[in-house]
Amino acid sequence: MTSIEPGSATVPTGEPVATDVVIIGAGPAGLFQVFELGLLGIRSHVVDTLGHPGGQCAELYPDKPIYDIPALPVCGAQELVDRLLQQIKPFEPQFHFGQEVAALQKRADGSFLLETSLGTRFIAKAVVIAAGLGSFQPRRLGVEGAEAFEDRQIHYRVRNAREFHGQRLVIFGGGDSALDWVLDLTGKASSIVHVHRRPEFRAAPASVARMQQLADQGRMTYVEGTAAALRTSNGRLTGVSVKRPDGTLAELEADHLLAFFGLHPKLGPIAEWGLELDRKALKVDTARFQTSVPGIFAIGDINTYAGKKKLILSGFHEAALAAFAIAEHLNPAKKVHLQYTTTSPIMQRRLGVSE
Ligand SMILES: Cc1cc2nc3c(=O)[nH]c(=O)nc-3n(C[C@H](O)[C@H](O)[C@H](O)COP(=O)(O)OP(=O)(O)OC[C@H]3O[C@@H](n4cnc5c(N)ncnc54)[C@H](O)[C@@H]3O)c2cc1C
Repeated sequence: MTSIEPGSATVPTGEPVATDVVIIGAGPAGLFQVFELGLLGIRSHVVDTLGHPGGQCAELYPDKPIYDIPALPVCGAQELVDRLLQQIKPFEPQFHFGQEVAALQKRADGSFLLETSLGTRFIAKAVVIAAGLGSFQPRRLGVEGAEAFEDRQIHYRVRNAREFHGQRLVIFGGGDSALDWVLDLTGKASSIVHVHRRPEFRAAPASVARMQQLADQGRMTYVEGTAAALRTSNGRLTGVSVKRPDGTLAELEADHLLAFFGLHPKLGPIAEWGLELDRKALKVDTARFQTSVPGIFAIGDINTYAGKKKLILSGFHEAALAAFAIAEHLNPAKKVHLQYTTTSPIMQRRLGVSE
């Protein structure tokens, strides 16, 4: 279900969400797109693979300062996301987190059918792809055969912690997610072995100290090493062999393996939607930021054009021009006039600031 040929859409049972615009990606560009559309009276739904807004800013460098946002001499990356969320609040964007837009099809009437990895479906008159470097995916456990057990006995995120109660768990990783789940599930799982490849941890020192305390008390076990091979029996995962730094193997029994090695962006399904690409970026025109398919726009790090710079402020400019183009696309008969937020009563009403 990845073609965008007109008329090829099959609408599965259940009502899709009908909306003017779906924005794919809640990074800084996608968030500001909500604002620019909102000023023109257009509401949007925003989908992101991550469980939270902010894209690279939130996922890769939340605590780092940014120095090149106009009029903000310095702004923390997470602070920028928080400010954007505050700015778009009047437009009440509908967020759909923790799901990847997996399919995009053009329908016979020119609208688009989108479907996410969780089965949420939308019918939108226009689509903005603000997908950055791609959707953030968990780094996988690099052992042969792991894929076959994914989501059944090997997990890269916890959807329902209760399913691990009373189970034998091996938890991999040295960051906050791994440590948080080790601490949370100790006492609830029937056994926990925590595995990390080196003595240094990225997680909060207090969490590491607590884990070491639990290990000293014999309430869980800590092993330094990396996964070497899966142990299976009759098609079920029964454990994992972990290679210690000295080359010896620790044979660990397990019902479930949980691995938290962080996330990395991957272009993913976007490459299959029939849009013109140039080295993994979507080609757009610089007047409308429209892709090779009318009605599908692309802003931020995901697009390319002569002189493109992958900067947050470029994404903001692109969002403004795309919003005007989308307004025209939605209503070709109506001319969209430039208005200033300073003086436009209608924009001030939309912003909720008029007296
Ligand atoms: C360490 C670091 C420091 C930086 N410092 C600066 C700086 O000082 N100044 C500056 O201007 N820029 C800086 N940048 C670059 C800046 O972060 C990016 O230009 C900016 O994040 C791009 O925004 P975006 O909204 O286009 O994409 P992103 O921030 O990448 O967000 C895209 C979002 O789309 C989601 N997505 C992708 N595909 C799908 C899909 N199919 N379905 C659902 N969701 C999807 C992703 O999960 C992601 O959350 C820095 C980058 C890094 C890594």
